[in-house]
Amino acid sequence: MYQKIRPPEEGEKIRYEDGKLLVPRNPIIPYFEGDGIGKDVVPAAIRVLDAAAEAIGKEIVWFKVYAGEDAYKLYGNYLPEDTLKAILEYRVALKGPLTTPVGGGYRSLNVTIRQVLDLYANVRPIYYLKGVPSPVKNPEKVNFVLFRESTEDVYAGIEFSYKSEEAKKIRDFFKKEFGISIRDDAGIGVKPISEFATKRLVRMAIKYAIENGRSSVTLVHKGNIMKYTEGAFRDWGYEVAKEEFGEYCITEDELYENYGGRQPKGKIVIKDRIADNMFQQILTRTEEYDVIALPNLNGDYLSDAAAAMVGGLGVAPGSNIGDGIGVFEPIHGSAPKYAGQNKVNPTAQILSGALMLEYLGWKKASELIKKAVEMTISSGIVTYDIHRLSGGKLVGTKEFADAVVDNLKTL
Ligand code: NAP
Repeated sequence: MYQKIRPPEEGEKIRYEDGKLLVPRNPIIPYFEGDGIGKDVVPAAIRVLDAAAEAIGKEIVWFKVYAGEDAYKLYGNYLPEDTLKAILEYRVALKGPLTTPVGGGYRSLNVTIRQVLDLYANVRPIYYLKGVPSPVKNPEKVNFVLFRESTEDVYAGIEFSYKSEEAKKIRDFFKKEFGISIRDDAGIGVKPISEFATKRLVRMAIKYAIENGRSSVTLVHKGNIMKYTEGAFRDWGYEVAKEEFGEYCITEDELYENYGGRQPKGKIVIKDRIADNMFQQILTRTEEYDVIALPNLNGDYLSDAAAAMVGGLGVAPGSNIGDGIGVFEPIHGSAPKYAGQNKVNPTAQILSGALMLEYLGWKKASELIKKAVEMTISSGIVTYDIHRLSGGKLVGTKEFADAVVDNLKTL
C-alpha cells in the first residue's frame, strides 16, 4: 500500500467513529522532522512525549514518514503520497517545520497539507509559562485558545495579477454587469467566506469550550466594513451557538439582560468583537477573552500578536485540525540558519506534542509536559533565545529536552 515506508508492526490504529476518536493504549503516530531546525526540535520533542506517555501507562509507536528535503531525496517529491496517506490512515501526526521550496512544485507544502487533508481549523492555545520573558506586564493573564479558519478568506489563493487577462475580464465584468469601476492597474483577490466553513469552525470552537470548561467564545470580524463576508461570519457564528448549543450558550446581550451581567454556572458566553478593537482588547482586557474564533486573515494576525504576549515563536505551539484528524506543529518555521546546531528552543515543538496528547484525550500527560517545561525554564535552564533576554544557564536543544524529561520524572 505504501511505496517507500512501512508502518510499524507494533501499535494500533486510532479510529474515528460517531464523531469520536478511539485511541488505543499504544497508538501508531506518523511523524516527520521536516526541514532546518526540525531535525533538532522534533527528536527532542519525541523524547519528552515518550516520557509523558510512559508516565500515564501508555506508549506512542512512532511511524517515520517524510516531507521536505528528506522526502525529495527519497522520492524526488517534497510531499509524497505516502506521507499524506499515512496521516489520513492514522489520523494524528506530529509535524516539524517545512521550508517552502522556492520556484516550481507546490505553492507551500504547509498549505497543501492543510488543503489535501481538509484541516480546516488552525488551533493555537496561547498561555504563559513562568520564567519566559514577555513584553507585557501581566502575561499570566493570557489564556486564549484561537480557532482560525484555514481554508477560505483572501487566503484561498484566488488572486490575479493586475496585468493578467483574468483580472481584465473581472474588471470589465464588474463595469458591465454592476456599473462598478475598478482601476485598470488593480490586481484582484477574492475573499470567499461561506456558511459551511464558518459554521464548522465555530462549531469546533464551541465544542472545545464546552468540553474544556471554558467561559466564553469570541467571534472576531470586520463585519462593520465587510458585511457579507466578515459580518456573515459573525451572524453564522451566533446561529450555530443558538441552534446547536442553545442549552450551553448565552449571548453577551442575554448575559446583561437576563442575568444582570453575572455569568451563570455552566453557560458559555458568545460574544463578538471587531478585529481592530480586539487587538487592543487582548492587551487591555486580557482576562475577558478565552476561546476565540476567527476568519483566516484576522486569525493569522491576531495569533502572532497574542503569541508575542507570552514569549513569541520559540514557545508557541499549534495544530491543524479537521474532523477526526489532527496535525500538530509549532508556529515557527525551519529557521535554516540554525539548522543542525543543537541550539534552538524545542519548547514550541514539545508543547505542540503536548497539544497532540490532549487531542488523544491524554490530558494528564499533556499537563505533565507543560509543568515540566515550566519547571525547566523557571529554574533558569534555557536556550539561546530566552538566554539573550533574561540570562540563565545556557543549554542546547537536546540538553533542554533532557532537563524537561528529568523534571517530568519528578512530577
Ligand atoms: P522562522 O523559521 O520561524 O524563523 C524566524 C526566527 O524566529 C528565527 O531566525 C529565530 O529568531 C526565531 N525562531 C524560530 N524558531 C525558533 C526556535 N525554535 N527557537 C528559538 N528561536 C526561534 O521564520 P522564517 O525564517 O521566516 O522562515 C524560514 C522557513 O520556514 C521559510 O521557508 C518559511 O516558509 C518556513 N515556515 C514554515 C512554517 C511551517 O512549517 N509551519 C511556518 C513558518 C515558516 P532569531 O534569528 O532572532 O534568533
